[in-house]
Amino acid sequence: MQLKQLSERIYYLPAESETDRPVLGYIKGNTYSLMIDAGNSSVHVEKFKNAVINMELTLPQFTAITHWHWDHTFGMHFVPGKTIVGHLTNLKLKEVSQWDWSDKAMLQRLESGEDIEFCDKCIRLEYPDRNQIKVVSADIEFNDELTLDLGGIHCVMKNIEGTHSEDSVIMYIPEEKVLFVGDADCEDYYNNNGKYDKKKLDNLIKTLEEIDFDIYVLGHDEPQKKEEVIDYLKTELLNLK
Ligand SMILES: [Zn+2]
Repeated sequence: MQLKQLSERIYYLPAESETDRPVLGYIKGNTYSLMIDAGNSSVHVEKFKNAVINMELTLPQFTAITHWHWDHTFGMHFVPGKTIVGHLTNLKLKEVSQWDWSDKAMLQRLESGEDIEFCDKCIRLEYPDRNQIKVVSADIEFNDELTLDLGGIHCVMKNIEGTHSEDSVIMYIPEEKVLFVGDADCEDYYNNNGKYDKKKLDNLIKTLEEIDFDIYVLGHDEPQKKEEVIDYLKTELLNLK
């Protein structure tokens, strides 16, 4: 699979629905390059690395993470360079790194609500041998906001109160007006039964309206334009009781 080019210096590896692999971003600076999200396994990271090498780009020195969910983080131990996450994400990663992946432990987490069926199913598919699962916390952690100067291009990482997970970090690249959101605008499957919280959705729309972006990169879909996203989210908000 090839990287797709979004703008002059921004590329991405498209999502794959079979095992819920998310989009992986690539930002090419003059000094450093940045990977956005670490994918769901070393196999997924390997695919990304090969795609980067095939385009004659350099392997990223940094990987920044949008939120703690397995599909965005289980490749962290295998990415080249240093990893960067928000404080809340790192707290959760430290907890998940202690999880046991036996059938019994996985079932217990489904019963307690610590994990959800969809992830359980996809993890089993991605990992025929669950001894290969390795969850690590990050090298670099920030509170609220961090700006990375990649040389001629910046990535502004900001922890927002998304509708999907409280640790959501959005990544804004002002020079090319691109915004990576991970799953920040999706429903919350862990804490709100896969539904939107009205107040959080309203806040998220306001946050997005204030950012000057043209291209919106979702975790599990094709990139969209700003108007499309805002229209979609406003319709969802109107449909909420
Ligand atoms: Zn997620």
